[in-house]
Amino acid sequence: MIKFLDLQKLNQPYAKQMADVAARIIESGNYLNGEFTQKFESELSTYIGVPSTINVGNGLDALRLILKGYMELGQLHEGDEVIVPANTYMATILAITSNKLNPVLVEPDPVTYNLNLKKVEEHITSRTKAIMVVHLYGQACWGAELERLKVKYGLKIIEDNAQALGAEWEGRKTGALGDAAAFSFYPTKNLGALGDAGAVCTHDEKLGSTIRALANYGSSEKNIHDYKGYNSRMDELQAAFLSIKHPHLDRQNQKRRELANLYFEGLSGSGLTLPTVFNNPESHIWHLFVILHPERDRIKKELIAKGIETAIHYPTPPHWQPALSEFKHLNLPITEKIHREALSLPLNTGLTDDDVERVIIGIRDSL
Ligand SMILES: *Cc1c(COP(=O)(O)O)cnc(C)c1O
Repeated sequence: MIKFLDLQKLNQPYAKQMADVAARIIESGNYLNGEFTQKFESELSTYIGVPSTINVGNGLDALRLILKGYMELGQLHEGDEVIVPANTYMATILAITSNKLNPVLVEPDPVTYNLNLKKVEEHITSRTKAIMVVHLYGQACWGAELERLKVKYGLKIIEDNAQALGAEWEGRKTGALGDAAAFSFYPTKNLGALGDAGAVCTHDEKLGSTIRALANYGSSEKNIHDYKGYNSRMDELQAAFLSIKHPHLDRQNQKRRELANLYFEGLSGSGLTLPTVFNNPESHIWHLFVILHPERDRIKKELIAKGIETAIHYPTPPHWQPALSEFKHLNLPITEKIHREALSLPLNTGLTDDDVERVIIGIRDSL
């Protein structure tokens, strides 16, 4: 059986180090806001190339807190519009709606599946205040067009970097490209915790300190609450686990690129729609290897019968979700096609070249 993702296997190499650090934390009595939290924040700041990192509870909180931070600073207001790719994961959109901001769903580029930068300007109105780009499947979504729109309309550019830790755009890391970026360390992400964890990275230290207060009941000074804040923290255990795994991330992302290349070699000319790398190879860290095929459901079923697990990211587009019924009238054919045809093949550092060969043969037999 080739599993889509075997988390037990992926975490096994770090089990001893994690158990040791967990014992140390239990012994210390400091479970929140301690040395490991600070250590991971400074490691992530250095790695991404930003002055300010704030650990938070999860990726959705990171996105929500960025928007809330801009609202507290008077740079966003209730009812403002935020442009977002229509084919993103629900969390990106929920971050917008939960702040009483209005998401404006824009179709992705049919080749990269990332926000179509050429289609953004026609959706900009006097209420548009931000663009939320999503580096979907691990591929950087960036371009000169974004910087032009940012200057022309005075927009904030916020990155949802939940799927792309380690990806680069012309030598800069995703997460350092825009004004602020949200990270998720959900266990299945390329850098996964053993529970929930997230972070915000930003160049804007004022926004950073506002978010730090918002994540701490709106307080930056004990017993003084400047904002109606939340509680959103990464605990010491998760921060310590992430510091253990983080030094291995670049090597693992490189391994993912090698496995992706095997898929390209084995599946080119097969009739499947393969992913496209838009920029240099470092712009993609292959969180997911997503192919499209009109008979996706049949292929998925046949692969299961051959002992090969695949996944679907995601079966239902956000504008067809019951929670977003106000958007159900939208006509988003590219988004709808992706959701109808997308199939994620197993791709992670627990797989061998032989496993990937088996998947390739399995798929070729099913076509
Ligand atoms: C995983 C993910 C999130 C949410 O992160 P959580 O830590 O699960 O809250 C947000 N956006 C995208 C694109 C994601 O893949």
